[in-house]
Amino acid sequence: MHILVSNDDGIGAPGIAALAEAMLPFGKVTVVAPDENQSASGHRKTMHKPLRIDPAPFPVEGVEAYATSDTPSDSVAVALLGFLKDPVDLVVSGINRGANMGQDLTYSGTVSAAFEAVIWRKPAIAFSLADYSEHADYTAAAAVARQVVSLDMPRRLPPLTLLNINIPPLPLGQIKGFKIVHQGLREYNDDLVTRMDPYGRPYYWIGGTAPTGDMTEENTDLWAIHNGYVSITPIHLDMTNYAMIREISSWGLDRLTPGANGHFEE
Ligand code: MN
Repeated sequence: MHILVSNDDGIGAPGIAALAEAMLPFGKVTVVAPDENQSASGHRKTMHKPLRIDPAPFPVEGVEAYATSDTPSDSVAVALLGFLKDPVDLVVSGINRGANMGQDLTYSGTVSAAFEAVIWRKPAIAFSLADYSEHADYTAAAAVARQVVSLDMPRRLPPLTLLNINIPPLPLGQIKGFKIVHQGLREYNDDLVTRMDPYGRPYYWIGGTAPTGDMTEENTDLWAIHNGYVSITPIHLDMTNYAMIREISSWGLDRLTPGANGHFEE
């Protein structure tokens, strides 16, 4: 198997080294990742400036690594669109410093790298450790990644579907197991901080304390992590709210056609 490893914390982050090393038993491992921290960059595609890709030193022996000048999704795109000559069988992203749960997925560069992979019809898994501390220990999360990937992921994952996996901040022996769950509800405690620059012009930070969320609703990612379990959530790129298709159909819009006077009419 040829496994592509990316992340959003940057190619120098400890989590990507742990993930690349965990993938080595499964075959060839190539790292293509942003040259600096791109956390919360979302699924951005760089279209208006050139992308640079350079070979990069990497702390794991036997792993070829490249640093890109832009986002996690750019990194995966260039790798899959022909920069890597060997066909890729699986894309893994992470191990992110900090959880990606609930609405975090829309901000997450870690998950966006996996989104990009499934757009190009490659199976993909995103891994995040629910520990934001600088000296977080990725050992248990790496063991989780090894366990999941050993289940022949390329065969099991359907098109446009990725796995989003969060690991609780616990030593391996204290992790209670795996829970297959849906996205929970995050609460963001963001504040708009307004300051003045030295030239008298205001500038803004989106500040505030770390996001919290509803830990009480069972069978969510937030609940699993809060209770010491690994959370596994299958994510589909079809974001349609199917129940609303029926609801909106009752609004009568589909019976209207353009009339003569600039309005729609039945
Ligand atoms: Mn990150």
